[in-house]
Amino acid sequence: MKFRDKFQRFMQGRYGTDDLGKFTIYAGMIFCILSLFTRNGIINILATIFLVISYVRMFSRKIYKRHAENQKYLAMKNKVVHALHLERLGQMKYYCFFKCPTCKQTVRVPRGKGKIKIHCPKCHTDFIKKS
Ligand SMILES: [Zn+2]
Repeated sequence: MKFRDKFQRFMQGRYGTDDLGKFTIYAGMIFCILSLFTRNGIINILATIFLVISYVRMFSRKIYKRHAENQKYLAMKNKVVHALHLERLGQMKYYCFFKCPTCKQTVRVPRGKGKIKIHCPKCHTDFIKKS
């Protein structure tokens, strides 16, 4: 039997990778690389923990449990993305973000329109910006 077939048979009924799996592998690799440059024992331990978690989950047969963990991870990730306004990074290409000078509300306008008058939806102040 080829290694590939053996591996496929071994993986049958096992969980495999998901978003959380990818995250733990990347985190583990990053801590691994960091531990090459520092003598910090904690980084070493973190690298080991993340890699062990990623392997344990990948070969796990408790698929529902792993799936639930992944859902939790995705919900948490969404919260972080939202809290840090990271979704804006994806919009940066098409939009400019300005703060209203009066109420500090962030206003989104299309990029590349030149000098435009922006109307704040919250306090209805108008201000001029270059987009
Ligand atoms: Zn305002």
